[in-house]
Amino acid sequence: MPQQNVVMSDTKSGINTAVTVAQKPPAVPRGYIPYPYPRSRRVLKNLEINGEQRINAWVDSMRASSPTNAKSTPSLAEEQYKSWILHHPSALDMFEQIVDASKGKQIVMFLDYDGTLSPIVDDPDRAFMSDSMRQTVRKLARSFPTAIVTGRCIDKVYNFVRLEELYYAGSHGMDIKGPSKSFKINKDKESEEVVFQPASEFLPMIDEVYQQLVEKSKSTPGARVENNKFCISVHFRCVDEKKWGELAQKVRSVLKEYPKLRLTQGRKVLEIRPTIKWDKGMALEFLLESLGLANCTDVFPIYIGDDKTDEDAFKKLRDRGQGLGILVSKFPKDTSASYSLQEPNEASDGFPSTFGGVETSESTFPGVIMYIDEMTMYIPTLLP
Ligand SMILES: [Mg+2]
Repeated sequence: MPQQNVVMSDTKSGINTAVTVAQKPPAVPRGYIPYPYPRSRRVLKNLEINGEQRINAWVDSMRASSPTNAKSTPSLAEEQYKSWILHHPSALDMFEQIVDASKGKQIVMFLDYDGTLSPIVDDPDRAFMSDSMRQTVRKLARSFPTAIVTGRCIDKVYNFVRLEELYYAGSHGMDIKGPSKSFKINKDKESEEVVFQPASEFLPMIDEVYQQLVEKSKSTPGARVENNKFCISVHFRCVDEKKWGELAQKVRSVLKEYPKLRLTQGRKVLEIRPTIKWDKGMALEFLLESLGLANCTDVFPIYIGDDKTDEDAFKKLRDRGQGLGILVSKFPKDTSASYSLQEPNEASDGFPSTFGGVETSESTFPGVIMYIDEMTMYIPTLLP
């Protein structure tokens, strides 16, 4: 198919994008990807009535978030990917434009952990971050306020990251702590310690539900239940897909006794958390406020994440009209992020090989480290 250069403009970030694309434009509206999300979203909305259907909806939605079983043919997948990347170009390709848009502004970095700074691995306790990634994040935090925003509890993610100079927003932002080595925006002002736990009253209930889920899931081989302090993750990564429905049914049987808890799903995981209106997007806003930057016009927050729960933060940035979101994914996904990151060798491997249905442990890792490396290299240009 003939190629042409297309210039796209992101009105929120003010960044123009020049992309080489196939001549035929995508037949769908901006940001809309027909495969595979809208179907599962629609199902989730409509199924508050029947328990069995609700479980199927959870499993369908989780399967859609974990696209290791893409049924598309390679050529269809390639077309879908080309259409998607047109709207969510690589942050590496767009690096110069991002630098220009952030000039004179205070950059604040927000980084998800699993699948963003570390690979997705079978055993969630072994999702280690590489030394080079740690070094890169350390360099980044020397220049910009930097926060880890994760579904994990703070203690666990801190054991992986081991950097005192970062902000940590654990349990999907329900447990926030400022750095012990403080980053000072205003050098004349002594910064106050940041601690915030909007769901602390739920702690006894979360512990109780955790114990019950551990007990119930024992009979499902490969099931893992993780206590993330203010939320619980039930991991499906090592469970035979034929048993996903059965495990989801067990989760539901526990959860139906606790109407104050709600369930969300991500990449091979069901997550249980308090019904309070708090998410990664609100955590992002809280941290900007703690830094005294919430009402500034010259702040440029950058959020990098890979999962559905990161969408709340991407959407928050779009609503604020500041900074940008970067989705780590090598599959087309319905997202509010502006840009994407994936493995850097995509050009040499070609598209079809990235749609082989294999989610390797290294799949998302190098793109992020390259992007952050570039950020640190450009620090002299970026500082206000
Ligand atoms: Mg993640």
